[in-house]
Amino acid sequence: MHTESAWAKLNISLDIGEKRSDGFHSMKMIMQSISLCDTIELELTEDGKITADTTLPYIPADERNLAVKAAKKYFETIDRKDLGAKMYIHKRIPVGAGMAGGSSDAAAVLRLLNRLSPDPLSAAELLAIAETVGSDVAFCVQGGTALAEGRGEILTPLCDFPSCRFVVCKPKFSISTPELFNSFDRLKTHVHPDTAGLIEALKNQSIPEICRRMYNVFEDVEDRRMKTVAEIKSRLMDGGAVGAIMTGTGSAVFGVFKDDAMDVDALVKALKAEYGFAAAAVPVNQISI
Ligand code: ATP
Repeated sequence: MHTESAWAKLNISLDIGEKRSDGFHSMKMIMQSISLCDTIELELTEDGKITADTTLPYIPADERNLAVKAAKKYFETIDRKDLGAKMYIHKRIPVGAGMAGGSSDAAAVLRLLNRLSPDPLSAAELLAIAETVGSDVAFCVQGGTALAEGRGEILTPLCDFPSCRFVVCKPKFSISTPELFNSFDRLKTHVHPDTAGLIEALKNQSIPEICRRMYNVFEDVEDRRMKTVAEIKSRLMDGGAVGAIMTGTGSAVFGVFKDDAMDVDALVKALKAEYGFAAAAVPVNQISI
């Protein structure tokens, strides 16, 4: 049995540009891997079958599961359709949270299969497969701190996030991605995050400078659920966070805490009791492949 960790991601910023001719929006996001992770257990088989059971019964075990899709694409690329994989995923990353849970599982499967291969693909080849599995998968393969553009697949590694603690909280509801984009399209104007300033703040390793510029444009859409998002942000700030925003398409919200901040465990416990999910985590740096 082989195992691999699948780290969740947070959006330090999220900006949306023009709608492209292919119907997708061009994105500009700073993404960060964090220590909250799923664990993949994988057994290689030779029967050509690929399955992924998880701790959550409502997540499909077939090709609708991004981990299965990733394994299938990997075997196709290396021309070994005779190979199969029996996987079990211990889910810890909340589903429908904007934390790339499914994408990070797919990315972990790609890393793991490549590690097991006697003739591994190059990083560029692995990233090319990742792109075909989903928009966030390429980022999740390498992780760390990166600027993601295009649909999220054009990656530029950035300076590591300074040492800190994150507290993530997800309310019980999820927000559908197409619905959120439609609401965003109805906005007349929107403010853009200062992405260049954020990159500079990362270079300066300054948590206050980073936090001042963290911004997710999806928080501006008219949606009654953003009230709960704002409420959780206030709870995080009142609990000592230097900054707090929603990640991706939500509904998870996170706060950044300095290492010497008061114990965050009590806050995590209170948020979990009130909203359903909360956890503390630290930044994870880029993974070498
Ligand atoms: P993102 O940040 O990429 O938008 P998300 O956190 O909003 O992701 P996920 O948790 O990845 O969303 O999953 C959303 C959907 O993907 C669910 O409906 C789920 O059934 C499906 N899915 C497919 N594979 C997985 C997986 N391995 N883990 C979790 N969900 C998966």
